[in-house]
This record gives sequence, structure tokens and C-alpha cells, in this order.
Amino acid sequence: MKHQALPPEFSVIRNEDKCIQCQACVRQCGFDVHEYDEEKNQVCANETNCVNCQRCVMICPTKALSITNNPNHYRINHHWNSVHIQNISRQAATGGVILTGMGNDKPMPSYFDRILINASQVSNPSIDPLREPMELRTYLGAKPDQIKLTSENGQLKLAEPPPPQVRIETPLLFSAISYGAISLEVCETLARAATELGTLYNTGEGGLHKDLYQYKNNTIVQVASGRYGVNHQYLNAGRIVEIKIGQGAKPGIGGHLPGEKITRSISETRMIPEGTDAISPAPHHDIYSIEDLRQLIYNLKEATNYQKPISVKISAVHNIAAIASGAVRAGADIIAIDGFRGGTGAAPMAIRDHVGIPIELALAVVDQRLREEKIRNRVSLLAAGGFRSSADVIKAIALGADAVYLATAPLIAIGCRLCQKCYTGKCSWGICTQDPYKTKRVNPELAAERVSNLIHGWSHEIKEMMGGMGINSIESLRGNRAHLQGVGLNEKELKLLGIKYAGEAI
Ligand code: SF4
Ligand code: SF4
Repeated sequence: MKHQALPPEFSVIRNEDKCIQCQACVRQCGFDVHEYDEEKNQVCANETNCVNCQRCVMICPTKALSITNNPNHYRINHHWNSVHIQNISRQAATGGVILTGMGNDKPMPSYFDRILINASQVSNPSIDPLREPMELRTYLGAKPDQIKLTSENGQLKLAEPPPPQVRIETPLLFSAISYGAISLEVCETLARAATELGTLYNTGEGGLHKDLYQYKNNTIVQVASGRYGVNHQYLNAGRIVEIKIGQGAKPGIGGHLPGEKITRSISETRMIPEGTDAISPAPHHDIYSIEDLRQLIYNLKEATNYQKPISVKISAVHNIAAIASGAVRAGADIIAIDGFRGGTGAAPMAIRDHVGIPIELALAVVDQRLREEKIRNRVSLLAAGGFRSSADVIKAIALGADAVYLATAPLIAIGCRLCQKCYTGKCSWGICTQDPYKTKRVNPELAAERVSNLIHGWSHEIKEMMGGMGINSIESLRGNRAHLQGVGLNEKELKLLGIKYAGEAI
């Protein structure tokens, strides 16, 4: 016996009094849970397939459905939990690697939840963001050590052009997600929203589809180890070129988009044959040292005529401060640090859940190290990896980030319910799939409006919190750790974060 039947993880509860047998759930479920039995004129459920993506619950016109955790899933055991038992059973049957999607959902400590934000009282009064200007605008790129001026006909001028800068109107950008991992409709959604908001979205490693060149002024183009879709036109289309060294969800390993997902459109965009596996090697095969990274950075600067900042994206791992320092010295204008809660379309569960470090600690130690080495001005820092709210964003900026990358949050705004089955390509919400029947469920115009609303909402909240701190610009908040205090943190954690304990005098 190779396969043992596994108990369903979820129970599908259908209120037969409310069900009108419309079969919307049958058509909409990506995982073939619901079936119509003609003889009985009844819709029934194969619960074993259910991933609790909630699509049927939301779509059911009579609200007849609910999904709950199956109380009989496995006997409670606090050491061998149901995920361990289920994974062991699956691997005993297949000998394969357990894949998953989206971010780490383990109950690891969230440092953001143990950091509190300051507010003005009496002296240094609050600023009312409704009546006074609040500056969220941020410039990404290296800043010179000093500005040299010359005089020409009595007019002061910059003696040398500054390094390339990219202006964003809010310190929120959309993080890398490739065409292939998500549908073209979702890529377009993010591109439209970035354009409306005056910020940037990121192609990920999937190349830039020809229909998306119109959004190039709001695009970061990524160069990953597979070099998919990378050519001169692609590099010069982006406002920023990002070298992907690592990704928070799966530090140290590469990516794999199976051949069945490589449609004609994806094959053209990635510049690979249709139906072939797109395998991104774990390392770049031309980078084995900081000097090699420097070579690639300068190759990309040459290819883009020194007009675009070059970003280096790294996973938050041990020794991150030294790695970031090396990347700055190698010529990076931007460093994106992706923490261990970062999302993904597909990653081995063992890696997603156990490799990497929290973004809060990584960011704080990188910012501190670059300040100590007096090179902090030479780079902008982007923080990524599971940002859930405007409060997380404020805390990250006060810990040293210039801006924050978001991916899971905008996908939730589009419809994602974090079922973590992106790697199957069956996403019922039409997000992580290339099935044309499902991808049509995302209307880029309407979805972009939802994403824009989310960012507008967070931006308003950021202004309100900044006003409450008596700060009127992101520039003044960046690395301003005196505005943060910790609760439930030990001495070592406070030291690494560079903050005091709540109630301690500043
Ligand atoms: S969508 Fe709702 S009403 Fe329609 S068949 Fe399914 S459970 Fe019944
Ligand atoms: S994108 Fe789709 S498959 Fe992936 S977690 Fe969200 S709902 Fe599930």
C-alpha cells in the first residue's frame, strides 16, 4: 500500500435549506471540491480536496456554505502536530519535497507586535496632517557624500550630476512577483495601481510582458539567476534594475516554474521555449564573491548608461549586516532585505518555515552597521517580508528603512485568502494561475482600484501616526529609533533593535 488516505483538513458545511443547487460553487472551486449529483439533484462536497480558499463561501448567492477546521483531522498532540503527521504521510507515499505557497505561518515572535510607537505630549507638539503638509515623498538611490557646487555667471550649479534618483510619492512599493507565478491580469493590476499611486511595482524574475511596457515609468525590472526575459530593451524599460540574490521565503535556493505553466505568452516574455521548465539556479553562476557582484552591478550600470539605480535584493539571513555592507561597497544604490515571513508562489515548506531571520532584526542591524561605517547615505534600504499594516511600515522606517515592499497585502486586497496552494496553479481567485477561465476573475481596472485604496488608506494612517509623533516627513522618521520602545523583549533583542524598553527614559 503506497498511499494512505489522509483525513480532510477542512469540513465543508452546506445548509441544504439555503442551497438552491445553482452550482456556482462547482464552477468556481479551483480544487474540484463541489460536485453536482444529477440523480439526487444535490450538490455534494469532496472535502479531501478542500484547501479553505473561501471562494465558494464568498460566491454562494444564498450564503449556504461555511468551511471549518475538521475537528477529526488528527488527535491533538502538542509535539507531533497535524502538519507533521500529514507531511510524513505524504512523503512516505511520494518521497518528494513538501511544497507550499505564501509566507511562513508559524507562531514565531513578531517583533513588530512588541514595538510601540511614540506620540507627542505637551512639548514638541503633534502636527495635524489635515492642516499641515506631511511629506511621504521618498527618493530612492545613492546620495553623494557631499554636494560640490560651482558658480557659472553668478548662478550656483551642481559640479557633478547626482547619482540617479527615483521619486516615489509614498514609501510603499510592490515587491517582486513574476508573470508565471501570477497571472498577467494581476501583473497589470499592480502596474496600474503603482502608476496611479506614483510608486513602483516589480516584474520579479519573469520578464516584462509586451502589454506592460506602457507602465515602464513605474516598473522595477529584476535580473535573477535564470536571466529570464533580460535584454537591453528590458533593462532600459525599468526605473530601477534589481539583482535578485535571495528571497525571504526561500533563502539560499532557486525557483522552479514547471513546464505545464509555461504558456506561449510566458515563454515569449521569459524568452524560453514553450512547455519547458523554468529553473532559476540557487546561485547566479557568475557571482561567487562581492567582486563578482560588483561586476554585475557595473555591467547593468553600463547597459543602462548610468541612468538607473541598481538594487540588490537579499534574504534576511545570519551576518546580514556584513553582506549588506559588501553590497554597498560593490556599488549597489538600493538594498532590498526580504525577511523570513516573505511570501512566494512555491517553496519547500522546510525552507520557508525554518530558514532566515525576522526583517525587524535584519533591518535594524543593517542600518546600524551602515551608519557606523559612514556609508548609510550611499544606499536606500527597502524592507520586505510580511508587512500587515501601516503600523508595521512606520516601525520599519523608524528602524532604518527608506521604504517598504509589499506583496502579500496587495494580493489579499485582490482576493487572496492565504490558502497557501499557489504552487498548484489552481488558485480559485484567479491570482496564482494561468488558467484563462480563472484569470478572468481578476479585472485589472477594478482590482487596481482596490489596491490603490489600500495604499491610500495606509498612507493616510502613516501621516496620522507621523503627525502624532510631531514628525512631518519620512526623511525625519527614517532610522529615528527614539520613537520606538519595546515590550516583552529581552536585553539582547532591545540592543539589536537599538530601542529602549517601554517606559525607559530616552
Ligand atoms: S453556490 Fe451555494 S447555493 Fe449554489 S450550489 Fe453551491 S452551496 Fe448551493
Ligand atoms: S494566491 Fe490563490 S492559491 Fe495562493 S494563497 Fe492566495 S488564494 Fe491561495
